Amino acid sequence: MTATPVERPLIELRDVQKLYKLGGEGVRALNGVSVTINHGEMVAIVGPSGSGKSTLMHILGCLDRPTSGSYVLDGGDVQSYGDDALAEIRRAKIGFVFQQFNLLPRMTALQNVFLPMIYTRAKERERRAMESLERVGLGHRAGHRPTELSGGEQQRVAIARALVNKPPVLLADEPTGNLDTKVGAAIMEVFRQLNAEDGITVILITHDPTVSASARRVISMRDGAVVSDVKQAGAKA
Ligand code: ADP
Repeated sequence: MTATPVERPLIELRDVQKLYKLGGEGVRALNGVSVTINHGEMVAIVGPSGSGKSTLMHILGCLDRPTSGSYVLDGGDVQSYGDDALAEIRRAKIGFVFQQFNLLPRMTALQNVFLPMIYTRAKERERRAMESLERVGLGHRAGHRPTELSGGEQQRVAIARALVNKPPVLLADEPTGNLDTKVGAAIMEVFRQLNAEDGITVILITHDPTVSASARRVISMRDGAVVSDVKQAGAKA
């Protein structure tokens, strides 16, 4: 007899609206988004430019707040937190990965990775950063600066940095957008392994159909709303 996995909600958005004031006019970037994502899911968010993907990612990442609606992250009501609490939630709960890698050029891979661990003792910081680099297969490049690394290696460093505080969720915005197809596929394999082996929830924004094809669940957006939300049986992750 196999046990049915218990579904534990990590992200619960209810009727989220986001209105930007642009001059005298309002832009409704999100128009009533309700989504639940459970611990351990791997989800791609797709949609044409301007459909609200980045706005949604900013809200999921606690970088911005909804104009109305509710957001519960890992049991905590995000709307009720002040700015300091929100910064702490981001540090503890969310790892960010961007299209542009966003590494500091003067620092080594190891230093880039331990950057988010400002409150940790130097020895412990280095040990954990090294562990994180090894997790993405880059332990042997710890002393290299970003200019001495390929695009795919730089993105691995960025993933290691996102992992270093052991967050339950990784949010990745077009993580393969600056990489060629083969390197992009290898980066997707890193996400897939982190999801399958470490149980990390992975949420990716992407234009790339091969990326969305490898996610188990695909949420499509248009005009600030979710227009479809499908589970793909054949996906690798
Ligand atoms: P996507 O990531 O899918 O391209 P966005 O979330 O960036 O979409 O944008 C959704 C809508 O909100 C667009 O119409 C965009 O112009 C608008 N928008 C996004 N950010 C802002 C902002 N800071 N101020 C005003 N309008 C914005």
